[in-house]
Amino acid sequence: MGSNRKFTQELEEAILHRCGEGLPVNKIAKEFGCCRNTLITLIKRNNAQSAYRPIYSKETEAEILQKYIDGITAVDLAKEYGFCLATVRKIIERSDVHYKSRSELLGTLHERFWQRVIIQEGCWGWKGSQPNGYGYIKLLGKIYYAHRLSYEIHFGAFDKRLSVIRECKNKLCCNPEHLLLETKRDIDL
Ligand SMILES: [Zn+2]
Repeated sequence: MGSNRKFTQELEEAILHRCGEGLPVNKIAKEFGCCRNTLITLIKRNNAQSAYRPIYSKETEAEILQKYIDGITAVDLAKEYGFCLATVRKIIERSDVHYKSRSELLGTLHERFWQRVIIQEGCWGWKGSQPNGYGYIKLLGKIYYAHRLSYEIHFGAFDKRLSVIRECKNKLCCNPEHLLLETKRDIDL
């Protein structure tokens, strides 16, 4: 029993002691491997002085939302900010950004890719957006290039820092047979 108690008395004291040293909540949460929210509840309950700060500021909230829009997952954001996933989801759900899991997001992207691509002999075409001559899909404020999506769809996930090269030099082409992933060695050269 008592399984929903998050901390032992001993651990609580250790945490409160750290708070008394004036460390920021975020750091203490990381040190003890707990969520910031949980920690703040504990601090409030014990009226501990110190590093108590609001759970998150408007700025932090905006930052989290922007990063989420940029494609960082809620799980990764939770890790980065020392929140639990539920807190990050709450921030996202409360905003007008629709909460999507990574797999949902990718599903939507892949679906849109197939709606826009023109499969034909030789180079494939693109009937979606194509400013500057490159095909892309915009989702949650982020741009996904068609040829990169095509590479991911056909060959699987890849290191996003690498370029996908079109051997045919056709900016719109997303025929996987014409696509090559730049290797790390290409960068070093
Ligand atoms: Zn081509």
